[in-house]
Amino acid sequence: MKSEFRSLPSVDKLLSDARIRELEVSYSRSLVVEVVRQVLEDCRQSISRGEPAPSSDNLVEAVSGRVRGLVEPTLQQVVNATGVIIHTNLGRAPLSREAIAAMEEASRGYSNLEFDLQVGVRGHRDVHITSLLCRVTGAEDAMAVNNNASAVLLTLTALCKKKEVIVSRGQAVEIGGGFRIPDVMRQSGAKLVEVGTTNCTYVSDYEQAITPRTAALLRVHSSNFKLVGFVEDVAIGDLVQLGNKNNLPVFDDLGSGCLLDTTKYGLSPEPRVQDSVAAGVALAMFSGDKLLGGPQAGIIVGRQHLVAKLRKHPLARAVRIDKTRLAGLAVTLTHYLKGEAEQKIPVWRMIAAPVDEIERRAKAWAEALGPLGAVADGESVVGGGSLPGSTLPTKLVVIKGPTKGPSLAQSLAQSLRANRPPVVARIEGNALLLDPRTVLPGEDQAVIEALCKAATAIKR
Ligand SMILES: *Cc1c(COP(=O)(O)O)cnc(C)c1O
Repeated sequence: MKSEFRSLPSVDKLLSDARIRELEVSYSRSLVVEVVRQVLEDCRQSISRGEPAPSSDNLVEAVSGRVRGLVEPTLQQVVNATGVIIHTNLGRAPLSREAIAAMEEASRGYSNLEFDLQVGVRGHRDVHITSLLCRVTGAEDAMAVNNNASAVLLTLTALCKKKEVIVSRGQAVEIGGGFRIPDVMRQSGAKLVEVGTTNCTYVSDYEQAITPRTAALLRVHSSNFKLVGFVEDVAIGDLVQLGNKNNLPVFDDLGSGCLLDTTKYGLSPEPRVQDSVAAGVALAMFSGDKLLGGPQAGIIVGRQHLVAKLRKHPLARAVRIDKTRLAGLAVTLTHYLKGEAEQKIPVWRMIAAPVDEIERRAKAWAEALGPLGAVADGESVVGGGSLPGSTLPTKLVVIKGPTKGPSLAQSLAQSLRANRPPVVARIEGNALLLDPRTVLPGEDQAVIEALCKAATAIKR
């Protein structure tokens, strides 16, 4: 073992290797020195566990691999072949070309983010978004924050702290990723008053819970689950009527923030923002990166005096939206105003994609796979906690493995993920499924190449 230790070069020796010196040109000397020390220390530990000392080539490789790994961004583009349009783990909504250009523009230089160019004084960042949001939703006033979780937290903190908020028991839900309505409520300092039962809540349940301490009635869109069977809940219009009678605002956490009619595509109806506003809710909040199809944001629309209070609250500063997303959101909203959302916004283009076009792409992919792949009917989903149980008919590339033995689907999925760019597919039973619906135009070639590579690796 002693000789193994002795065969390790010193830090200086390793640093003087020409290939290591080369690294110092692209990366910093201090980073390279640190990694050299770490690698040698790791080697000493493995030798003391009885492993042999690595060759000098291996040492150089280990150092250069680790240096590159430290600097290379871990966040990278992936191809979404899962058929889940709004995939939270894959970054939710891809943006329109125009929105991306606006975000690039906003980050390149200075802007009038909070500057009134006419008068030359300080302005407010909301001006770039308010009138657009009011126009597409019909609301009096509007603002944007970091995300919808922030929007709900800000609303409850600024308007309901130390007071009671009435929520249907069937809506005291968990959205996923740790966002639970009861927890957010506690965080805001508002007291949750649950009414009704898990499956049934009536207007009278809300009415009986109203006390002098009540600050608001809150509706939460159940988003990611669906109750079937004997279910009763209160229509938003009826809730508003009850609120008006008792001089209480109704807040509506819509989740997805849909502006278009999903039934046009054979999907179940997703509540639309403009319908909530028309029904008279005091405030509605929703995400920017779900069905709206924009960058991450939380949007709050509704009554002017309430939005004004939210803007003034200290928490608003803590959850404010940055300039690049503000720019992307504004352009995304103009797609709705121009009536071009289904052509320009990727999530809507995917929802609207004709099946024969999807089939044409699936066939091309399957062809590249040879006898391994086949095209079959399947279903895409909207995802992102929208429209649970509602699907879009699609065409899938199916790669079936043997029913017994090590899963072909699993190992294929793994080699697709190892591709550059990684391709993420769906596994059902012993089959690997790829859905062209969620693969962006221009990514087909990458999928075909990844499939060919993965198939060759399997054959070996
Ligand atoms: C998704 C969702 C949220 C959280 O929105 P983020 O933008 O992810 O913060 C809150 N409420 C509902 C009903 C949702 O569906």
